Amino acid sequence: MDLKTFTPADVAGKKVLVRVDFNVPIADSKVSDDTRILAHLPTLRALVDAGAKVALMSHLGRPKGEFNLKYTLEPVGRELEKLTGWRVKFIPDCVGDKVKSAVSDWKDNEILLLENVRFYPEEEKNDSGFAKKLAENFDVFVMDAFSASHRAHASTRAIAELLPSFSGALIKREISMLSAARDNPQKPFVLILGGAKVSDKIAVVENMLDKVDTILIGGGMAFTFIKAMGGHIGKSLCETEKLDFASQMLEKAKTLGVEMVLPTDAIAADEFKADSPYVAVPANSIPDDKMGLDIGPETAKTFSKVILDAKTVLWNGPMGVFEMPAFANGTEAIAKAMADATKAGALTVVGGGDSAAAVALFHCEDKVSHVSTGGGASLEFFEGKMLPGIEPYIINN
Ligand code: AMP
Repeated sequence: MDLKTFTPADVAGKKVLVRVDFNVPIADSKVSDDTRILAHLPTLRALVDAGAKVALMSHLGRPKGEFNLKYTLEPVGRELEKLTGWRVKFIPDCVGDKVKSAVSDWKDNEILLLENVRFYPEEEKNDSGFAKKLAENFDVFVMDAFSASHRAHASTRAIAELLPSFSGALIKREISMLSAARDNPQKPFVLILGGAKVSDKIAVVENMLDKVDTILIGGGMAFTFIKAMGGHIGKSLCETEKLDFASQMLEKAKTLGVEMVLPTDAIAADEFKADSPYVAVPANSIPDDKMGLDIGPETAKTFSKVILDAKTVLWNGPMGVFEMPAFANGTEAIAKAMADATKAGALTVVGGGDSAAAVALFHCEDKVSHVSTGGGASLEFFEGKMLPGIEPYIINN
């Protein structure tokens, strides 16, 4: 998949509005994790080096279409200034007179950061009138917010119809790594799925089943599959309405010759609590008064071996409740196996969200080929969906 990106000539001397994802955690008016800001720096540096005047817009949190200073981007401006040494001027609105006058006073080498686009209800409605107001002071639009690209909003989609528009370096890298894994995987190709819910991952299983050699299923979602096979899962998570789907997928995998590997053992706890007593048990005979909160050591070993033998690995969803140390061992083992497989030459991709948080927790984020910045966006990409924030830039597919 090739994307339309900017050359220095497209942006030199132009007023460029960039959609970034600065939806970062803030504590005591300070950015507590700057990963998302750092991810945009290659694009922003390329624009600055090309002689563009750069203005940034983003969402932060869910202010539900109202001005709410709890969700102001001002602290992010200070953090960006600290990280880059650039002069960053924060504008307390994203449309209207304040933006207009900031643009007319715009100094060279000054980055403008506009206020949260989600302070306006029109943003999430992909309203073209609002997109027009966002666009009106600028010459060029650059879309760099991969993690917001699965949403058709005014600042991610409608605006692209109004200005000469390009995708940024972050989107280009994301699409190139994710499509290498999704569309041209070297075999053996292993998909690892985990997390709480089967329903979130149904479309991925359906879309990937005829492409992969092996699917490893862990996390809470594994128990619906184990139950569908007649196992006893105690108080573990189960989506009863997805039992049929789970049986169908197990059947289909068999027909296609795809190995679908489920946990053989589990760490079962009395309660969903960090300090709950726990015990390792066979995953298909969990006592009635216990719940499986992690894959067991035998499963971690089996999964790790499959990962080490793979040439391409795609991982979405933790193997257990990794936020609680007692139930993090399975997820840690998978993160380490991903790192080892990468060292051995495999292409390893972690789809954002909780799995990205997990690889960071276990210090493996620099030891895998790619950690996506977009949880929802990477999942929809693997599902084979067209991402509305990226569609305008696709040159060939
Ligand atoms: P998801 O957003 O569906 O990827 O789910 C991620 C969440 O699943 C994490 O917060 C984990 O704590 C949770 N999770 C993983 N395994 C289990 C499990 N066995 N039981 C309950 N929750 C789980």
